Amino acid sequence: MARRSRAFKACAKCKAINDRKANTCWNCGYNVFTTRWDGLIIIISEESILKDILGVDKIGYYAVKVL
Ligand SMILES: [Zn+2]
Repeated sequence: MARRSRAFKACAKCKAINDRKANTCWNCGYNVFTTRWDGLIIIISEESILKDILGVDKIGYYAVKVL
């Protein structure tokens, strides 16, 4: 968990997981990130019900919780 937190950061707005070197979020374009996040949700299908639950609309990685 600690190692993963350093390698990736979560968007403060949409919780999408971004590479540590990213300047803007691949999902929403926001530029504020946190390395303090917990849990990982992977959306792998356009039809995933998790998209509705999370309020996201793109396939990708998302943090469950941004601390
Ligand atoms: Zn975002």
